[in-house]
Amino acid sequence: MAAHSPLVYKFGGASVKDAAAILNLQRIVEATAAGRPLLVVVSAMGKTTNALEEIFDLAHRGQPYDAPLGAVRDFHAATAEALVGPGTAPGPWQQTLHDLREQLAGVNPDHYDRQYDQIVSYGELLASQLVAQALGARWLDCRPLVRTDRTWREGRVDWPATERLVQAALPALLAQGPIVTQGFVGGTAGGLTTTLGREGSDYSAAIFAYCLGAESVTIWKDVAGLLSADPKIFPDAVRYPEISYQETIEMAYYGASVIHPKTLKPLAERGIPLQVRSFLDPGAPGTLIHDCQHPALAPAFIRKTGQCLLSFESKDFAFISEENLEVIFGALAQARLKINLMQNSAISFSVCTDFSERRVQQLLGLLAGQFRVHYNADLTIFTIKNYDAASVARLTGGRELLLEQRTRSTFQFVCR
Ligand code: ASP
Ligand code: MG
Repeated sequence: MAAHSPLVYKFGGASVKDAAAILNLQRIVEATAAGRPLLVVVSAMGKTTNALEEIFDLAHRGQPYDAPLGAVRDFHAATAEALVGPGTAPGPWQQTLHDLREQLAGVNPDHYDRQYDQIVSYGELLASQLVAQALGARWLDCRPLVRTDRTWREGRVDWPATERLVQAALPALLAQGPIVTQGFVGGTAGGLTTTLGREGSDYSAAIFAYCLGAESVTIWKDVAGLLSADPKIFPDAVRYPEISYQETIEMAYYGASVIHPKTLKPLAERGIPLQVRSFLDPGAPGTLIHDCQHPALAPAFIRKTGQCLLSFESKDFAFISEENLEVIFGALAQARLKINLMQNSAISFSVCTDFSERRVQQLLGLLAGQFRVHYNADLTIFTIKNYDAASVARLTGGRELLLEQRTRSTFQFVCR
């Protein structure tokens, strides 16, 4: 790789959650990337995205949102003040907050998903402005560069256009000094804002890295690297020092929340290594994800909460046929419910999806005429990748399994 190919760093919400965290980010950048071309991709501060979702929801229902919006403002103001000191000239984030207020005032009862993107993307705009200011770096609006279609809340990237736009704008700027931009956010050809799906900032980092031919991507997390389980649930989780793209893609698909599932593909395609490192211990080795062979890995325990198990029976107790399945899959796609697991029996067909009240109701509306549909929400899917008898016994013990499935390498079950 050419000596000038840039590094891409991604800092998530926890790593920019307050002024102290942003100062820590600044130290990491100085210690590890000084003098290198660097693109910093940041998420919204702390839980700002959740707060903006609530504010948008209130606005969409025509209810008052002054209090939660005031809290978002105060939080960013306090951070800015702690970073640059009181009484200094107002920063660009204040204008951004003003724009947010105006956009919120225009929210109307239609097009939930489209308006959601216009509002909820402000968390990244605000955070990136504060971080750019702290680093003394150039701030870059990613919306004219990360080109997507109009699939609101899960914009699909137009790769050729994005690559062209990024290549035309970024290399020259990166030669002048570090750049800070937004994760999670993109834009349509018509100038509207899109988002790439919750927790999508990792994916943004991969999009930029792909288009720039980056030397590597580093995701700075509050954990030591890619672990075999969430240490909050399994205290004996181990860190994988090195792991292949393929294994990581599968873990992310099953719900290992450490990396957004769409992140790996663009990196694997261009052979760009991904490092996962701890912002709490920046000198520690972390995990290197790249094209490699490794011996069998320790079993990985992956938990996906907020699941809904739906089962469909045809009303006349007929067998579930290919024609039935076609209707069911079509309705699931239309309601944008993604299947995480499925199982077929003689007269019923079951799927597990992420639960969304609105989408499940839409699905019921589509299918109620033809099928008896039952569903259970508040469920969890556990996946053990590279399982063995001991790991299965350990995880299933004492649990009522509503559905279970195994392949040679993967054991999965749904439970309450
Ligand atoms: N801020 C966005 C979210 O919380 C994107 C991200 O954190 O990656 O979903
Ligand atoms: Mg976030």
